[in-house]
Amino acid sequence: MTNEELWQIVLNEAEISISRANFITWFKHTFISRNEQGVITVSVPNGFTKEWLENKYQKLIMRAIRTACPEARSIEYVISKTTTSEPLIKTASSSQQISPPVRPAEEQLEFQELRIDKNTNLNPRYVFDTFIVGSFNELAYAAAQSVVKNIASLYNPLFIYGGVGLGKTHLLQATGNAIKQRDPSLKVYYTTSERFTNELVAAIQNHEPQRFKDIYRQFDVLIIDDIQFIAGKVRTQEEFFHTFNALHENNKQIIFSSDRPPKSIANLEERLRSRFEAGLIADISQPDYETRLAIIKTKLATKKSDLPKEILEYIASSIEKNIRELEGALNIVSARTHMTGTVPGIEEVKELLLQITSRQKRVVTAANIIKEVCAFYDINEKQLFERSRRREVVKPRQVAMYLLREDFHGSFPYIGQKFGGRDHTTAIHAYEKILKDIKDSPDFADEVHILRGRIYEI
Ligand code: ADP
Ligand code: MG
Repeated sequence: MTNEELWQIVLNEAEISISRANFITWFKHTFISRNEQGVITVSVPNGFTKEWLENKYQKLIMRAIRTACPEARSIEYVISKTTTSEPLIKTASSSQQISPPVRPAEEQLEFQELRIDKNTNLNPRYVFDTFIVGSFNELAYAAAQSVVKNIASLYNPLFIYGGVGLGKTHLLQATGNAIKQRDPSLKVYYTTSERFTNELVAAIQNHEPQRFKDIYRQFDVLIIDDIQFIAGKVRTQEEFFHTFNALHENNKQIIFSSDRPPKSIANLEERLRSRFEAGLIADISQPDYETRLAIIKTKLATKKSDLPKEILEYIASSIEKNIRELEGALNIVSARTHMTGTVPGIEEVKELLLQITSRQKRVVTAANIIKEVCAFYDINEKQLFERSRRREVVKPRQVAMYLLREDFHGSFPYIGQKFGGRDHTTAIHAYEKILKDIKDSPDFADEVHILRGRIYEI
């Protein structure tokens, strides 16, 4: 199969899976330029498209590619500078070609300059200068700032948590970049807990665990993003515990992010949990309307572009929980403006944003609630429904019953029935227990809040 044929499969899949506006905007002028040893290189016309495909459509693309090319392992996107004579998107309805959007030169430059530093894994794009601070994230921001100035002496570890798309990665990377800028001799390393795990597994398979240990223990600042994925991975936790101790004892700074506080990470060894909690824990909550508007305006200004006030206000009011989506919305509207040469009217903007906003307001089903509860507490559905009284399943089960009542408005007999044919009094008891626990414990209330966030916004 040629690269062209392979990419056509992806295009066909994308065309039926996403809205037409998005399909045209993001898949135009894209093609596979290389396919070697499972690494597929996709050429894209600009950084906008690159980011968008990586962030939004990676799964869709990978899934489609794997149907025809099961050995595909990863996809890389490169910005191709020359305009290509490759075929444009062929749509079912016509063979009409779509002219490329004209984008300001600085926008393209901005992305072309992006180079992830091989030694630190840091992306120079993420800096404090572009990080907007409001009451929703000021504690996390201040903590990160003071870590830059007081490495390993004030807050160690620093643990930052918050929902998806609220700036954890940006803040962690900005911290790393700022540390490096102040003192280039320091060894700073950014990784994700998934990557850490993969490297560990590879080291074990290659019989070189010592090398892995040595590498990790030489860093002055170790930044681990999305540490929650370490949950349930016994061997990784074990190794990480030792790495953590080695670094900490030698006065090295450790920074984490997570989608939830340490106490809410299920299947985490107690000794690690207490290490995570030993420094400073700072949360990032959701920005309010004014802050969202400020974020949009700042982003627009950095792109040296502008949109009418009512469009900005519409975006800020309709996208509430996720800064990445806020940026995405802005990108869709800007792309449309560049493409057509006219500013879209508010009705058209509404139409364009439907994809993002309709996802936010998704209908909650009992199945969603159960699925998210299981994912959150890292248990499987079978365990949730069986009659076990083990603590690790009793709490999630009661939380699930509580949410089914409170948010899904299920009747107690229905809920009891759903959970292994239990009596309705069991459901009432679970509901009241959780209600009381939420009142009594702010920590637990926080946990349920985070869980709800996952149910409703993802
Ligand atoms: P998370 O890691 O929490 O999922 P990211 O750090 O990846 O979120 O942020 C998502 C996007 O939103 C990024 O493009 C980031 O630059 C942007 N962003 C998040 N928070 C802010 C902020 N406070 N100021 C400016 N941009 C932000
Ligand atoms: Mg992140």
